[in-house]
Amino acid sequence: MPIIKLYNTLTRKKEKFKPIKSGEVGIYTCGPTVYNYAHLGNLRTYIFEDILKRVLLYNGYKVKHVMNITDVGHLTGDMDMGEDKMELGAKREGKSAQEIADFYTKAFKRDIKHLNILEPDIWCKATEHIKEQIELIKTLEKKGYTYITSDGVYFDTSKFKDYTKLSHLDLETLKEGARVEKNKEKRNPTDFALWKFSPPGVKRQQEWSSPWGVGFPGWHIECSAMSMKYLGDQLDIHCGAVDHINIHHTNEIAQSEAATGKKFFNYWLHGAFLNIAGGKKMAKSADNFLTLENALIKKGINPLVFRFAVLQVHYRKPMEYSKDTIKSAKNALEHLYNQVRLLGNKRGKIIKEYKEKFLEAINDDLNTPKALACSQELLKSKLSHKDKLATILDFDKVFGLDLEKLQEQKLPPEIDRIVKERKKARERKDWEKSDILRAKLQSLGYVVEDSKDGMRVYKI
Ligand code: AMP
Ligand code: ZN
Repeated sequence: MPIIKLYNTLTRKKEKFKPIKSGEVGIYTCGPTVYNYAHLGNLRTYIFEDILKRVLLYNGYKVKHVMNITDVGHLTGDMDMGEDKMELGAKREGKSAQEIADFYTKAFKRDIKHLNILEPDIWCKATEHIKEQIELIKTLEKKGYTYITSDGVYFDTSKFKDYTKLSHLDLETLKEGARVEKNKEKRNPTDFALWKFSPPGVKRQQEWSSPWGVGFPGWHIECSAMSMKYLGDQLDIHCGAVDHINIHHTNEIAQSEAATGKKFFNYWLHGAFLNIAGGKKMAKSADNFLTLENALIKKGINPLVFRFAVLQVHYRKPMEYSKDTIKSAKNALEHLYNQVRLLGNKRGKIIKEYKEKFLEAINDDLNTPKALACSQELLKSKLSHKDKLATILDFDKVFGLDLEKLQEQKLPPEIDRIVKERKKARERKDWEKSDILRAKLQSLGYVVEDSKDGMRVYKI
């Protein structure tokens, strides 16, 4: 199998990827907290993860992909303080937490479909895995990693000696970050909740009984419990965006490795943020929040324009978002679509030389900007149309830009009738009639191309 190099946050190095089981890869991607729509920043991360998955598939790996849906336990403060985001969404919209979760889960699935993101093999919801989370906390308790305060069961981070191995920060810096949210009962600022109690006298919408009292799981424990349940001993790659490094993923590693005594995931990949102009992160809690629906679909822009914009930036580089981002990506994608349409619809063979260049780009830590440049080299080369077509359609298994669909454009019957009439006119060399019919097609918004392969008519 070809060599794939991936930048591993654990080692801060580009490493040759080696799966636990030969030819197979287990991937866990932290999914959405379903109390609101996903914004373009979130979607950038899911596109990066989709490219990773497609690159592995393109290289011939069998991939098992698990994604969770966070539908309980994620509080507004990352250090287990503040309001539950699900209950906040429910209050905002006058619905139940369950209704909110169902609504935004559906919206998320629609978004990823629009973006040609391949669905995970397994979707798993935090609320459907309470038993597994309780079991994991019980194991941690038995091993002496937990303590109980008035508001929950906490993980004692001082007992896990490798706590800083993912963040590469010294413990003091991590503690400083964690002190932002004050909780006097915590033994160490970095300690985190495994189980939170329902506040006395309050009946939460989402609560379960547990050996420690009625309440709900902490945010991090769901990802440990569900990744180990569904991937078992195939803990190859775990991803998210960079905001997950210092808290969420650091805590996942601590609690999982403390429970099993074994290494949790081998590779940790993190995507950079989508920022709005000025370097401010796009966030659900801020007013700079753009959805796929508002920024593209409602304006009649193909959502794949956003996918294309994401591919133009390497996943570890911050992406600056402005109106021009979409405008220039739209132009570039339309240009690519036209280039591909011009190739006609006969497929030749995949050209090895270009495939190798393409592989070299994507297998070098998912270098999609370079892979796009490689496609332009191919399209501008002197190769035959049919070989170019076969090769670019092969690349599109990774890009996911629907290039194949360009070949299948179905014309409405009235247009098809004019096309047939023009074909007949050309067969009898009636050039005058042919020109009139061409003008007619153009006036109806169609592009007409005559080449040695015959006539091609399409709408842009
Ligand atoms: P959430 O739904 O808030 O749990 O986040 C879902 C995913 O989006 C996580 O992997 C986050 O790390 C990621 N994320 C959040 N904000 C951004 C952003 N501005 N740019 C890129 N990824 C983000
Ligand atoms: Zn997670």
